[in-house]
Amino acid sequence: MERAAQTYKDVYKAGKEKLERAAVDEASLDARLLLEFVCGTDRNTLLAHGDREVSTEECDRYRKLIGQRAAHVPLQHLTGEQEFMGLTFLVNKDVLVPRQDTEVLVEEVMKSLHDGMRILDMCTGSGCILLSLLHYSNDCAGVGVDLSEKALAVARGNYERLRRERPEMNAVFLEGDLFEALAGNGKDGSGKGTCPEEKFDIMVSNPPYIETDEILNLMPEVREHEPVTALDGGADGLTFYRRIAQNAGAYLNGGGMLFFEIGCDQADSVREIMEQAGFREIQVVKDFAGLDRVVYGNWR
Ligand code: GLN
Repeated sequence: MERAAQTYKDVYKAGKEKLERAAVDEASLDARLLLEFVCGTDRNTLLAHGDREVSTEECDRYRKLIGQRAAHVPLQHLTGEQEFMGLTFLVNKDVLVPRQDTEVLVEEVMKSLHDGMRILDMCTGSGCILLSLLHYSNDCAGVGVDLSEKALAVARGNYERLRRERPEMNAVFLEGDLFEALAGNGKDGSGKGTCPEEKFDIMVSNPPYIETDEILNLMPEVREHEPVTALDGGADGLTFYRRIAQNAGAYLNGGGMLFFEIGCDQADSVREIMEQAGFREIQVVKDFAGLDRVVYGNWR
């Protein structure tokens, strides 16, 4: 027997209630976004066209997605994308989902980024930082490095998509353990990396910065679904800040700058690491919640 067609607002309500029962954060938002994803609708539909019919196929698809979201699969893994800096980035389980906090990092870099500069993004993941910087600047060239080949596949996909809009964008994505990916450190045994030039004006990184023991306390969406290599910053969470800051100088032009995203309680430690590595005029910038989020400094 044919099932009776359901209205948009009833389908949404059932989805929302299921997410609420599963203690999903922002249950109503996610229920709405998933329904919009399935039906190809927008925010206005729920408000203005709540009586619109939802087909059985749409209902089935929606129910399946709500079931996954109730099991704490991140929303972005279901829709396959995340907005960042006004751009759409493709994401999957191989990359950290771009966070709004990271926009503070990009905006801070933008203040120092001039036409024609060369940018290095360490631990590039989805490529969201590097590609936003390139999208919003002129004649800059960028290199994104990541240890994960699978993450780089996502970054390259994002590059290809964004380049359709701005064909002049210029990025290379290299696999390797931080600076190992760069010129002179190639893994192919030639002593030469595949990076076309050696030095950069801007180095930026949102590295893994969670203390290993803290990972268990993260929300299930993050703990069980996002790549642990994108989260784990070692016993004190600072491993990558040390490794990047201590080696950065060799790859920065005179007057070059290093920008880090940090966890909100890491500003003092990262400032000290950067100072000891030879960075000067170190600044800490807060995010929209008033928490320390970015540390940057000038190469001596
Ligand atoms: N740079 C990427 C981002 O900010 C990935 C960061 C990471 O994997 N730690 O989203």
